[in-house]
Parts: sequence; C-alpha cells; structure tokens
Amino acid sequence: MGKTKISEAVSKGKVLISDGAWGTFLQKKGLKPGECPELWCIDRPSDVLDIAKSYIDAGADMIETNSFGGTSFKLQHYGLENRVMEINEASAKISRKAAGENKWVIASVGPTGKMLIMGDVTEEELYNAFKDQAIALEKGGADAICIETMSDIDEATIAIKAVRENTKCEIICTFTFDKTVQGDYKTMMGFSPSETIKAALEAGADIVGANCGNGILRMIDIVKEIRTVSKTIPVLVHANAGLPQMIDGKDFFPDTPEMMREQVKNLVAAGVNIIGGCCGTSPAHIKAMKEAVAAL
Ligand SMILES: [Zn+2]
Repeated sequence: MGKTKISEAVSKGKVLISDGAWGTFLQKKGLKPGECPELWCIDRPSDVLDIAKSYIDAGADMIETNSFGGTSFKLQHYGLENRVMEINEASAKISRKAAGENKWVIASVGPTGKMLIMGDVTEEELYNAFKDQAIALEKGGADAICIETMSDIDEATIAIKAVRENTKCEIICTFTFDKTVQGDYKTMMGFSPSETIKAALEAGADIVGANCGNGILRMIDIVKEIRTVSKTIPVLVHANAGLPQMIDGKDFFPDTPEMMREQVKNLVAAGVNIIGGCCGTSPAHIKAMKEAVAAL
C-alpha cells in the first residue's frame, strides 16, 4: 500500500488515535468464558467487523485485529492450533474491511503463555509461532504488527525478530506494567519500562509503549520513564478504563470517557504519540480522546 507509515505520520508531530478494547467488547457481544475469541473471525465475522467499525466510526486512525491469542500455543487450548493461518488472515481481512485503505490495521499479537525461563518452550518454537502468525496477519492486510501485553523481554524480542525477518510490517511493541509497593513500575516478570523499551528498540521495534494493566493516569508516569530511553521513538499507549474493581463477580472499569478525555493533554505532554484504549474502554472513550487531541 502507498500510504505513509505510522512512525512517519507521528514524526511530523501529529498525535494519532488508536482503538479501544476488544476482549471486553467481545464479552459484551456474548463471548462466553471458555470460548475462543479469535474463532469469532471465522464463525461470527459480522460481530467482529462491527467492533472494528465502531472504533473507526469513533475516530480511530488505526484499528487492531481480533488475533490477540492467535499463536499456535494459544489456539492449542481450543484444539485450533492447525488453523493459525486461516484465523489470523481472517482477522486482518475483517479489520481491513472496517479501516478501508486510508486507515492503518495494526494486528494484535499477544503473549504465548509459555515461559522460556521455565523451559516450557524453546526460542525456536516461540520464533516459529510468532512467524506463522505474523505472516498470516500480513497476508490478510495488516500494515503493522502490534506485539502487546508483553511481560518477558526475551519473548518480546523473539516476536519482534520474527516479524522483522518475515514481513514488511511496521513493528509496535507494548508491555504491561504494574505499580509496585515501592511506587515504580514493573512487568509481571520484573522488568522496568526503561529495560523493556531499550530491549525492544535494540530488537528493531519501530514504535514502543505500554498497554493494559493501568488507567491513563499511571500511563503518564510510564511514558515519562520511556522518554528517558529515547526522545524520538514513537510511543503508543493503550490504557485501560482505570483499574478494574470486582463488582458482582465481574470486572468493572471505573474511568469514564470524560475522565480519559481530561488526561489526554497530560499524556501528550509526557511524550505520547498514539493514544488508544485497552480493557474496559469503548468507542465512547475513543471518541472523547479523539476530541481532546483535536482540541490540543
Ligand atoms: Zn487490557
């Protein structure tokens, strides 16, 4: 495709808007516990298209795909490990249909759930799983691959390498951080924002950042730390709609679109280039943040 790369678009100082939650949106549409979300790309494509379209209609400049758990390791839980190509290609085609040719499709690649450090898996097996998924996503029309919710540096850098060596897609890599009792931020595997981002850059990521785990307020601190590593690398944040609270056995995300809208200028001041949402965010959140960016 002839359009500009995302990293070039933001290098001109433009702040771009990404999309919001997929998992919690699929649940709202009836995805049941124990059901494979990615299989909806085959079985319920119009529902998946509906989600993608609703974010584009809300003003998103780029849209993810319903492929977060699309590696063979994740699909194996549902006996679908032989359908990696079919499912991932379908996910990218659906988002491309919603995005048209002028908006970007940033295809979601989540962790495999396998731990290198525990000897669950070899580096080669991980590489091949990410390679197969990335090739299918590119074939379906993805402009970029969004490696996200990462907590292990080794897994993330293997995924980056697999995308870089096997596709022409731009590479986004975001990690998920929790606030520690000391008040700093670490991934589940104990890595800080600066450690993870340094490693992702060295491995060849074009865009880095953070997703999930935190609301937009804490993302401001995280972006500040990322900016100590690089002043120029494009930074993407997909923030949750606040920290989830358990209400009636269900996760409730407390941040309203207005609350997220109010923090956009602070997040931009901290150095973010692309803003979207993660768990609990809806098209209304994306629309509110789009308006805030337009007003900057
Ligand atoms: Zn999330």
